[in-house]
Amino acid sequence: MDRDIANNWTVRMLAGEQSEVFYTKRFLHKDGHVVWVEVSRSLARDEASKPQYFINSVRDITEERSLLAQLSHQALHDPLTGLANRIMFEDRLTQALARASRENKRLAVLLIDLDEFKDINDTFGHQVGDDLLAEVARRLKQATRAGDTLCRFGGDEFLYLSEGLTNHSEAETIAERLLSVFDEPFIIGEESLSQAASIGIATCQGGKGFVELLRDADTALSDAKRQGKNRYTVFRPEMHDQVSNRIGLVQELRRSFDSDKILMHYQPIVDLATSQTVGVEALMRWNHPEHGWVPPYVFIPLAEQSKLIFDLGSFALHQAVSEAASWRHLDQREEQPYVTVNLSPRQFHDPDLLSKIKEVLEANEFAPGRLVLEITEGVAFVDIDSATRVASRLRQLGVSLAIDDFGTGYSSLSYFTLLRPSILKIDQSFVNRAHDSANGERLLEAIITIGNSLDAIVVAEGIETTTQLEMLRGLGYNFGQGYLFSPAVPSADLVGMLESAPISCGVSPPPPPHVATIPIDYRLASSAARKAKRSL
Ligand code: C2E
Ligand code: MG
Ligand code: MG
Repeated sequence: MDRDIANNWTVRMLAGEQSEVFYTKRFLHKDGHVVWVEVSRSLARDEASKPQYFINSVRDITEERSLLAQLSHQALHDPLTGLANRIMFEDRLTQALARASRENKRLAVLLIDLDEFKDINDTFGHQVGDDLLAEVARRLKQATRAGDTLCRFGGDEFLYLSEGLTNHSEAETIAERLLSVFDEPFIIGEESLSQAASIGIATCQGGKGFVELLRDADTALSDAKRQGKNRYTVFRPEMHDQVSNRIGLVQELRRSFDSDKILMHYQPIVDLATSQTVGVEALMRWNHPEHGWVPPYVFIPLAEQSKLIFDLGSFALHQAVSEAASWRHLDQREEQPYVTVNLSPRQFHDPDLLSKIKEVLEANEFAPGRLVLEITEGVAFVDIDSATRVASRLRQLGVSLAIDDFGTGYSSLSYFTLLRPSILKIDQSFVNRAHDSANGERLLEAIITIGNSLDAIVVAEGIETTTQLEMLRGLGYNFGQGYLFSPAVPSADLVGMLESAPISCGVSPPPPPHVATIPIDYRLASSAARKAKRSL
């Protein structure tokens, strides 16, 4: 594949469409170990612009790759059970859905929930609870067919994906096999524990999204629980109430948007040495009439399933740039803080993105160098060629790119060399977990190394304590954001902070922003629901 890409680009370079390419290549060292290199190739031309020769520079990236692989493994697996985690499951399911549509095959998702697991935790303690979960995972894994995917969805929930089914009853056979692993008691230490489970099954032949399918499985699971547990239920469309609820929610979101209930808040990004605000991240807020502040991980994924995401995205860009332009006269420093705006994958691949950005910058006389667009690794994963083209046009415009939640995806290093982001924002889970394992700090160090090798600034997210701050400083981190400094605040409050810079970071962090309790119906609404637990 690398070779095809390289050939393709060579043609483009000769045609004058591209000035430089990067690609990675694998070699076998004479002592037997594998060496990965990154090749950067440019074309030298004579005065008449006639191609003369290629200039190749080769860099050994073996260690960076292995660090990245470690990061990916940690990001994609559940540490307790070793199973895939929900991020990996989401990816597998998304790909399986695309295949199912194309090949007209049926797939099934089984949501497995342990019955009364809480009682085990309460009676025997968390250690026994954890050991039981690990043993359940081991037995479920043994009952998993080759080619199927099993993941720990969180808590005492597991997800199972099976592709290429010819009829419904095959999914039921799988459910029976999975339930049979609970027939024998579990021996944990000195205890012999009986544990049962319930399963909700949703099947489809494509045409459904990840969120919808999980919601169907969840609805079926509730039915199995209602019917007395220790059984499975297959989703039927009559159980549709909750699904239609989602459509209602999108309509409600649209109405809120039209009546100005969606707004932007801003979280400072600070220089960790001086506590000066160097930038701000614009984060969207929904002021819901009944639920209060609804966090974006609930409604952004919903909006992404409709055209509404483009309206919300344009709003975020206009609002952030125009408000940031208005801070200009308040901040006397030469270096004005930059503003970062999150883009969802659909926005990033929107053919009108560039013209929209130009328009906003011009309308507000805003320097392109002060605008940063945040995208997640998933954006590159969708279509790397198109992402590279967009990234390069943004660069030409002077607008920078940041990779958000860095380390939670599993893009290869070559993706980043192609996108050439100016900023890597490392996911808050790395900061949270740094003290949990011996590996935690090493991973943070690895990320800095990768950032340096990509010539990118690394920003640590989710700094909540002074201990975390000190550790990050010690590891060479220069920039960060988090509740220790400030949560996201309305523009007016931010102006106050900019005037009284630097931001003070007391020993006790300011309280996290108030967010609405997520109503149960929204539970599976978000592909980013994993963030819910972390961010609340
Ligand atoms: P993100 O871009 O990774 O934003 C960081 C999230 O971490 C924000 O949550 C922020 O409030 C939260 N956070 C900041 N400091 C801390 C901390 O110290 N501890 C903890 N636990 N959390 C902290 P928020 O605002 O709920 O946003 C969640 C996600 O929603 C964002 O993640 C981003 O992916 C998405 N999002 C937000 N605004 C927009 C938008 O305008 N457009 C798009 N497409 N997505 C957006
Ligand atoms: Mg962000
Ligand atoms: Mg982030």
